Amino acid sequence: GAETTKNVLILMSDTGGGHRASAEAIRDAFRLEYGDEYRIFVKDVWKEYTGWPLNDMESQYKFMVKHVQLWKVAFHSTSPRWIHCVYLAAIAAFYAKEVEAGLMEYKPDIIISVHPLMQHIPLWVLKWQNLQKKVVFVTVITDLNTCHRTWFNTGVNRCYCPSDEVAKRALVDGLESSQIRVFGLPVRPSFCRAILIKDQLREELQMDPNLPAVLLMGGGEGMGPVKKTARALGEALFDAELGKPIGQIIIICGRNKILASTLETGPWKVPVKIRGFETQMEKWMGACDCIITKAGPGTIAEALIRGLPIILNDFIPGQEKGNVPYVVENGAGVFSRSPKQTASLVAAWFSTKSDELKRMSENALKLAQPEAVFNIVRDINDLARQRVPLANIPYSLTSSFCSYPI
Ligand code: UDP
Repeated sequence: GAETTKNVLILMSDTGGGHRASAEAIRDAFRLEYGDEYRIFVKDVWKEYTGWPLNDMESQYKFMVKHVQLWKVAFHSTSPRWIHCVYLAAIAAFYAKEVEAGLMEYKPDIIISVHPLMQHIPLWVLKWQNLQKKVVFVTVITDLNTCHRTWFNTGVNRCYCPSDEVAKRALVDGLESSQIRVFGLPVRPSFCRAILIKDQLREELQMDPNLPAVLLMGGGEGMGPVKKTARALGEALFDAELGKPIGQIIIICGRNKILASTLETGPWKVPVKIRGFETQMEKWMGACDCIITKAGPGTIAEALIRGLPIILNDFIPGQEKGNVPYVVENGAGVFSRSPKQTASLVAAWFSTKSDELKRMSENALKLAQPEAVFNIVRDINDLARQRVPLANIPYSLTSSFCSYPI
């Protein structure tokens, strides 16, 4: 009944597509597992309740990752704890009242952060409100390997790490092993639970029923060398001797409208579909035989679940760098920055090297963790039942924000 319903506040930001996808994955898994026992709010509290710079993370992030060198500097220069703590403390002091109002409006029993900048300030607000013992606070990390240190805060009840590599970093940054769980990256249940049959999907999506298909994308924002790779594929997947295509191309441009409109102007010698932001990625992935993408953790985790061999053609410096060895060393894909090389590899997979494609697909399935999101929500449910008090939050209003030695 309503009196036992618990409120869950998921803190995310639309920087890229990954944080939202993870937030939605957790929300959907809560619904599937516990129905109306939990009421879920997915919110970008910064955007709604603060001013610059917190309300503007989307465009700042977009600007910075477009100018990769800038992002590299920002990522690595904010890594030392004292720097990001001082920065966050200054912001927190400035927007404390607004953020507090924003958080408390939802009367959360549980707060789940899926963003690297949403631990410190919310935890501090809880402490300020004397709610540490009542509210469960957990972090769900959405980077597979080289994540930023702002993800780690020793004051959380749990820190869900997608991989052992991230768990090791959490330990180094002072979390107790009792706070850490490794279940995998949360992927929307529509990926893991639906039974998808390739032939049916191809019919539904109006694809060629017989030609092997490559999916080309670049995260939520359509980043990386998508345009050049598309053109190279258009050439490589056309067999000039036989005068016919050996494959088809699906290009998902996400929110990159300019990319979509430039690609629309053909001519194409092979069947091509160009799409904008798709809400049913599991269907497109289920209809294809391999994927080319930048090293986004969300896209990688989803592709692994669908057993798609992955060609990584780019990565955002810092948090996505480690995703490359994660895929390549586990035999689930390759890394190539060259559109031509990428295209000829796909052509080989679709003709002479089909055994390699099959082997990589098997390796991908071995790495996949479709149950991760369910294990995460079950564990949060257990925590909520126990109401474990939050560990000591190393912040207070009056003393220094960062109680760590520099
Ligand atoms: N995505 C989507 N529709 C699109 C393009 C991307 O739903 O048209 C999803 C994709 O399935 C994945 C996320 O957006 O879950 C992208 O996350 P990722 O971590 O790969 O990269 P980011 O966009 O965060 O840099």
